[in-house]
This record gives sequence, C-alpha cells and structure tokens, in this order.
Amino acid sequence: MHSSTADAANDAGSEGASPKAERLLHDKVYEDLMQLLGTPGFEPRARLPGETALAQRLGVSRPVLRQALARLREEGRITVRKGSGNFVTDALPQARPMSLSTLKNIGDIRAFLEFRCFVEGEAAARAALMRTADQMHHIRRCRERFEQALAEGSDAIEEDVAFHDAVAEACGNRFFGMTMTALAPQTRFSIGLSRSLAGRPQGERRAGVYREHTAVEEAIERQDSAAAREAMEAHLRGGIARLFGQDG
Ligand SMILES: [Zn+2]
Repeated sequence: MHSSTADAANDAGSEGASPKAERLLHDKVYEDLMQLLGTPGFEPRARLPGETALAQRLGVSRPVLRQALARLREEGRITVRKGSGNFVTDALPQARPMSLSTLKNIGDIRAFLEFRCFVEGEAAARAALMRTADQMHHIRRCRERFEQALAEGSDAIEEDVAFHDAVAEACGNRFFGMTMTALAPQTRFSIGLSRSLAGRPQGERRAGVYREHTAVEEAIERQDSAAAREAMEAHLRGGIARLFGQDG
C-alpha cells in the first residue's frame, strides 16, 4: 500500500482520540457504509471507490475507514479482489441493521433503553430456566471481566455488552441473541452516551453497577426466573434514571 503526504495527514487525524470516542466513530463509519450499500454506485458487484475518495466522502481518516471496511469484509458484505479493490457482494442481507441515526433524539434514546428493558428482562427470566452449566460459566466470566475492566479505569463498554450478550445467548431462543447482535451499535452508543454524560462509574456508583450485574448472575445461577427478570429490569431502569433523572 503506497503512502502519500495527503494520506499521512489524514492518518494523523485519528490520533489522540479516546478509545470510547474511537469506538463510537468506528460504529458510525460502519453504519454510514451500510447505508450506502445498495444505493446507486454501490449495487451488488459494484466496485467501491478507492480508500482516499471514500474516506473523504465520509469525512474520516483512512485508518478509521479501513476498520469499517474490514468489518464489512468479515460480515461478507464486501469482498476484496487482489489489485482491483473492494466489491459489493451479491448477497446483500434483506434487513439492514438500523442506522445509528435512527436514534434521532433524546426521546429515541430513552425509548431504546426501555426496549432493552423489555427484551433483556425476558431474556434473563428465560436464561434462569434454560441456561446450561457452560453458559452459566460464560456469564460469570463476562461479569468478572466487566468488573476488572472498570477497576482498571476502562469505560468497559465492550465488557458490558458482552455480559448482556451472554445472558441473551443463554435463554434458549437464538432470536434473543440475534436481536442483541443487531442492536449492538445502538447499545454501545447508549452506554457510551451514559458514560460520557454521567462519567465512568466510580466509587459508590461503580459498586452499584457491580451489585446489579451480580444480582442478575446470581438469580440465573439459582434458576430464579422472576428474580432474574427483576434484577435485569432494575439494572436497565437504573441506566435510564442515570441519564434522565429519577422520575423522568
Ligand atoms: Zn450492564
């Protein structure tokens, strides 16, 4: 891959951003590309514009663009042909994930968190009845990794998402896990927003988040379906309260 002066200047653009800001930026670029796929010039089998042109069009640096392209390749939405660039694949999925831009305003973000509350409360209740020993072990490992990441000063967004995914995957109905995967960009966005508005959980609030996750885990462990639902709903309602205030 050649490197011109202009590219070097572009590449410098992403330096210094916090991991959280980078994560949000990567999701945004991925979503923007997803919105382009299937539109004129981006039909199945079309060749994508070169990286420089595409990066300019999306207003990002080439390293950020490359991350998003790598994700699209992993998902089979584009393929690379040696020497001739990236091509849109034939098999565009029927249902595209919602764009981040569908979280249009603060009301939408609230509605999304309430939706998570319904879906994940139900998932936790079912996980308490359906989980295998391996799935229980995975939930516990994810909870421990989340605590460790927070203790190390990380915003722990990925670890938080992984814990919630682990619960959804243990509920014996694969559509819960698929729904969580489809909504992962919105979930990351809303957790990131909460972290940047309310700050990283520290002190008493961090202990509170630990307790909330542990309560979910323990209820699933002892196969108490009602308690698992209650604990998950309390955890997600806590998130809504942290963003919108206790009554609002
Ligand atoms: Zn959580």
